[in-house]
Amino acid sequence: MIRALALLCCGALAATAADYDLLIRNARVIDGSGNPWYQAGIAVKDGRIAAIGRLGDVTAARTIDARERVAAPGFIDPHTHVEGNLERNPRADNFLLDGVTTVITGNCGSSELNLAEWFAKLSKIGLGINVASLVGHNSVRSEVMGAANRLATPEEIRKMQGLIDRAMREGAVGFSTGLEYIPGTYSNTAEVVALAKAAAAHGGVYTSHMRNEGIHEIAAINEAVSVGREAGMPVEISHLKIDRRSVWGASEKSLALIEKFRAEGVDVVADQYPYDRAATNLGIRLPSWALADGKIKERLAEPTTRAKIAAEMRRNLEEMGEPDYNFATVARYDANAAYEGKSIPEIAALQGRATGLAGQIETIFDLMNHGGASMTYRLMDEKDIERIMRYPNTAIASDGSVIAFGAGNPHPRSYGTNARVLAEYVRARGVLTLEDAVRRMTSLPARTFGLKDRGMVREGMAADLVVFDPARVADKATYARPHQYSQGFDFVVVNGKVMVDGGKLTEARSGQPLRRQSLPVLPLH
Ligand SMILES: [Zn+2]
Repeated sequence: MIRALALLCCGALAATAADYDLLIRNARVIDGSGNPWYQAGIAVKDGRIAAIGRLGDVTAARTIDARERVAAPGFIDPHTHVEGNLERNPRADNFLLDGVTTVITGNCGSSELNLAEWFAKLSKIGLGINVASLVGHNSVRSEVMGAANRLATPEEIRKMQGLIDRAMREGAVGFSTGLEYIPGTYSNTAEVVALAKAAAAHGGVYTSHMRNEGIHEIAAINEAVSVGREAGMPVEISHLKIDRRSVWGASEKSLALIEKFRAEGVDVVADQYPYDRAATNLGIRLPSWALADGKIKERLAEPTTRAKIAAEMRRNLEEMGEPDYNFATVARYDANAAYEGKSIPEIAALQGRATGLAGQIETIFDLMNHGGASMTYRLMDEKDIERIMRYPNTAIASDGSVIAFGAGNPHPRSYGTNARVLAEYVRARGVLTLEDAVRRMTSLPARTFGLKDRGMVREGMAADLVVFDPARVADKATYARPHQYSQGFDFVVVNGKVMVDGGKLTEARSGQPLRRQSLPVLPLH
């Protein structure tokens, strides 16, 4: 049928031109819905999936034999932080080689504010992947209030709403918060609701890095859901986890609460990265009041304040169930790269300090006085990770960024998130079926963020596709040696163009900024 139509419309060209631009033959198609794989060919024309099925002897400018391999929708990573890094490395190699064709960025409250300008700039550079963005609470609050440790005035709320409204008009897919970070942590729920409403008015999603991901997680989930309820918008809980040894196992209660809300009719889902370490800044280990207005150095220079900060840090460790800072490893420290890859106790020893807690806290103060550091923190238990992953409404996300190959000591999740789920949690442990894992990487995030023509292998959808060997796909990046690409993603197609060909990156740049509800009209054949 499809071929007959193609012949009808293109009869004049049939003698010279191929029927399609690209043909993937003999694939096990996993369509992103969660349904079992089926054998079919996929034909692509003008950047769209034009035909699926037993395609017979149609011709294409390029044919890929996908025998023994899976063809799936390109993965949509719903939680990334690519601002700045995507401009420097626009092909986004680490994402493409992990099967990712679209990222949602602007998470955890931190985003570009002038999206029209940013998207125009990205279009001009030429991207390897598609990118959609949220508008972030911390970014709008910094713009209007700096790092002030107080509630917003009505006038400031109005200004912040204006920035959010503009970003939504320029194509943002929703509003994100990072309530553990400066300055979002200084806000109350009423402020977040008022701002979320400005995004809800345009059909946006609310995503939240919650105020707490450990002992007070239940209260934090209640807050996230109440924002969605009061503002009238769906909620995605970012990187759901239990990050406190003292309450490992509590994911059972968190998931039960999320299910209770769903039963009441609240659209709430979650995303997760498949690793036992978090990655963030060093400042998060200090009480948030100590960081207000960017005056950490002044406060550390004042002996009684310094002692007060140290005392709160000790209390916080106790609450966490951690005896010391052995769980904290420096990923990037511009003032002295020799500390990268080392734990806080190791650095304390290098600095000739007593390795006990007092010496470790002094080391943290020293690093904070020299610009702070990017860190990884070993905080999660595999049982919680698996339980959260089994929850049907958890999408797979990296929480990563575009990485300059070889630079610093980043969290391996930027390189290996999807491969790790497929190799470790599907193939080795059987936590998920292959089809269900793919669903959480494709149609689930596409639905959440309103990417209506992506995330499924269906005729008419954008031709974002990944072809991989389910027996061979594997993550290679580790905490000790993170700069290693995943293996097994042999072909990655973005908007109909082959970006990864036989496991090698090409020079194509077919990614594009994705604006909310500005989907291109489908060409008909
Ligand atoms: Zn976050």
